Amino acid sequence: MAEGKFETILYDVPEDGIARIRLNRPDRANAQDTQLLYELNDAFDLAARDPDIRVIILAAEGKHFSAGHDLSELDSAGAMKRFRTVGAICGFGCAGAEAQMSREEEIYLGFSERWRNIPKPTIAAVQGKCIAGGLMLAWPCDLIVASDDAAFADPVVSFGIGGIEWFHHLQEVGPRKAKEMLFTSDAVSAAEALALGMVNKVVPRDQLEQATLEMARKIAAKSRFALKLTKLAINGAQDAGGRELAMKNAFHLHQLAHTHNLKVFGMLMDPTGLPEATRKAMAARLAAAAAEKGGAA
Ligand code: ZN
Repeated sequence: MAEGKFETILYDVPEDGIARIRLNRPDRANAQDTQLLYELNDAFDLAARDPDIRVIILAAEGKHFSAGHDLSELDSAGAMKRFRTVGAICGFGCAGAEAQMSREEEIYLGFSERWRNIPKPTIAAVQGKCIAGGLMLAWPCDLIVASDDAAFADPVVSFGIGGIEWFHHLQEVGPRKAKEMLFTSDAVSAAEALALGMVNKVVPRDQLEQATLEMARKIAAKSRFALKLTKLAINGAQDAGGRELAMKNAFHLHQLAHTHNLKVFGMLMDPTGLPEATRKAMAARLAAAAAEKGGAA
């Protein structure tokens, strides 16, 4: 049984041919800090490279799938330097929009797009809240099994940004529902997600693990190469409709919003709609960055 050495991720092979990756920060609702994202990427690589693995499950420990990006991470610049990032080579550590864009190009837009294109079927098992950055882990998977308590939301318009970095809403729910999700910040329930075709199956919470394994088992019995070709055919059809270019356009607008908010509010988001705890965490992060800058000068 292949085992990865991770701190924020669990990796196991519950059955022949099936790799299972689990987010393991349940005390923080699996909020994604820099380390978790790099470890998750490494875990996907581990499963993709293993010739015995035919299907990859992405699940999460605890009550919630993921609360999104960990906005309380104080030293994200330091974390980016610790990991071998493209951003560190081509501009991370620089000031202003360049640094933020480099970070987000790599660990948000880049990782989610990369995971979408893994040449093996992937299944997300989602329970509880799947918020903002949480969607950027579930949506890149080919299939989604949700528990009946799952709720999906991208509330970032409330924080002065037009949508998350991996702007896949249109492919998931269509343009009209995407606008409703984004304009109102309202969550989509598991039942509604099923009706919209955003998830494949909804099961009671205590059956989520078994239902996901059952689906994985069925797929693992099929030809590995045929599965890869099917995935290429469907993803390729989406791309032929201009998906990639539209997503890059949305990503650049996202960067414009960060730059605007930094200029107007002194932070990457409009604090007006932020919960008090998040506002405080972001202010602390900003102060830490300013202190580091002061120390280095
Ligand atoms: Zn962003």
